[in-house]
Amino acid sequence: MARRAAGRRLAILGAGHAHLDVIRRLRPLTHAGVEVTIVDQDDFWYSGLATGMLGGQYEVEHDRISVETLAKRVGARFIRDRITQVDPTARVVHLAGGKALSYDVASLDLGSGVPVDRVEGLGLNAFPAKPIRRLAKLRADLTRRVQPGNGRPPQPPRILVIGGGATACEIALNLRALADRLNAQAFITLVTSGDRLLNTFPESASQTITDLLHHRAITVRSRVAVDRVEPGEAVLSGGDRIGYDLVVAAIGLVAPPLIGRLGLPTSNEGRLLLDPFLRSIQEPTLFAGGDCATLDRTNLPRIGVVAVRQARVLAHNLRATFLGGRLRRYRPQRRWLQILNLGDGTGLACWGPFSFRGRAMLAWKDLLDRSFLNQFR
Ligand SMILES: Cc1cc2nc3c(=O)[nH]c(=O)nc-3n(C[C@H](O)[C@H](O)[C@H](O)COP(=O)(O)OP(=O)(O)OC[C@H]3O[C@@H](n4cnc5c(N)ncnc54)[C@H](O)[C@@H]3O)c2cc1C
Repeated sequence: MARRAAGRRLAILGAGHAHLDVIRRLRPLTHAGVEVTIVDQDDFWYSGLATGMLGGQYEVEHDRISVETLAKRVGARFIRDRITQVDPTARVVHLAGGKALSYDVASLDLGSGVPVDRVEGLGLNAFPAKPIRRLAKLRADLTRRVQPGNGRPPQPPRILVIGGGATACEIALNLRALADRLNAQAFITLVTSGDRLLNTFPESASQTITDLLHHRAITVRSRVAVDRVEPGEAVLSGGDRIGYDLVVAAIGLVAPPLIGRLGLPTSNEGRLLLDPFLRSIQEPTLFAGGDCATLDRTNLPRIGVVAVRQARVLAHNLRATFLGGRLRRYRPQRRWLQILNLGDGTGLACWGPFSFRGRAMLAWKDLLDRSFLNQFR
């Protein structure tokens, strides 16, 4: 089998949550002579620590892993570049730097982005919640703004967070945590068009977060959409205007446009449709995982927990494809644990219809996140 694998080419496209463990487990393939190339435009940024990093609980460096180092360790080649197109028929990947990369089998993990084009001016003026590298920039920006300069005390910055899901609430709370750490004041407002915060979480979690935002002096305006974002001011449906110094977009996540250009079947949300073995339902030489793809019959949530679970199946199936053996089916979890970092030393753990808040929950999250990351350091 190993002889048959020698000289064949595997392209690992994107090094996100669904690929990190795949990369760590590449040794048997490179050992058998498979030429493995990993392409990503960035390092790996871990979403589990993202809001804690924003709030100053973790150093920025703690949230990222060097993909280049990981690749070297397993004998793979790493190219830091932006993928502009994948042609699954010709089996070629085009890169922004001008290179083209041919492959026999590829696996896609290009994640998701905030659909900033849905609101006029949002893309120009806001920090998107993703890529997570931008949250490190947001932290640096807020820190700079609250440093006194020229002997004058700075004006408290006005921060506007748009969105009402877990990411928006965690970001608002951790911006408050960062301001507190810096002994600074900040006016924080969260605007959501929904009528309940965390509307995909249990009712008890919504109530906890609503009370906490109030307690942390974060103004919440619900049932109102942001129509337009101008420099320094957001215009709400109904005409109200909110002035801001920093604006953050956490209005959900969508698949990258590149997925729509593959010419392969996608879901109505633009995610690549996969069979149970995590291959495109039309093109068996193209595997995928994470937010950019979903199962043909089950719409998967866009969360890191799903991507990390898929990594084990992807690693096995890529090995089986080159070295022989049966492909393994990916079976989505029916329930999953999510722990939100509330920025005040407590966490909110949600599992199915249950939610629990406390310091122990954050300590638990910290333990899970550290042990995940330690596998790759
Ligand atoms: C602030 C925030 C906090 C979150 N917290 C949690 C949490 O606590 N728990 C949880 O389960 N989920 C959380 N999520 C969701 C989680 O981030 C995603 O579900 C997860 O990142 C999906 O992983 P992925 O493998 O699909 O993509 P990602 O991990 O985003 O990786 C995609 C990779 O593809 C690369 N890439 C993309 N396009 C290109 C291109 N054209 N060329 C080259 N490289 C490219 C990127 O650089 C990136 O490395 C959070 C999301 C946000 C925004």
